[in-house]
Amino acid sequence: MGRRQDNRPVPRWLMHLAPHEFYASLLDVDTAGLAARGIQGLILDLDNTLAPWRTGEPARELAAWIDEALGRGLKCHIVSNDHGPRVRLFTRLLGIGGTAKALKPAGRAFRLAMAIMGTSPGRTAVIGDQLFTDVLGGRLQGCHTILVAPLSEHELGWTTVMRRLERAVLKRLQDAGVLPLEPRRRGDGR
Ligand SMILES: [Mg+2]
Repeated sequence: MGRRQDNRPVPRWLMHLAPHEFYASLLDVDTAGLAARGIQGLILDLDNTLAPWRTGEPARELAAWIDEALGRGLKCHIVSNDHGPRVRLFTRLLGIGGTAKALKPAGRAFRLAMAIMGTSPGRTAVIGDQLFTDVLGGRLQGCHTILVAPLSEHELGWTTVMRRLERAVLKRLQDAGVLPLEPRRRGDGR
């Protein structure tokens, strides 16, 4: 829509930051479609993916989405760089497992999550709001990766800096046609 296409080839390193899918929010992610493509486990980011940064409790719609995923046979495990008490609050309220202080994009917590869920990288999807932690980390493990738009803009320090860089990478991927200009929403038929 009026945006110029950028025909330069996307450098290979940049493709490590390219999610396989891009959704407006976690609640828009099509769990039936994931199950149909053979995905058996979901690695879920916490902050700005499951809940806005620093909010205390998950929304009721989130619990329903998790139940829907579990009902389709998808195992779920939170992998968060946040501290233990916050991750434990969400694992308890949602009834799923979780790993805190994950140091994403490092691979250890991703591999641990897959070991706990009993899934292989090819059958695991990583869902998160950050290219340099969630998408890069998932890509390096060979997982299916899904970027969601962040739930809130309120973040501190390092994340704010990374966001600027992230927006530039996202724009480059969108201009090259690797990613759609608009994220998918539930029921938009794509
Ligand atoms: Mg996040």
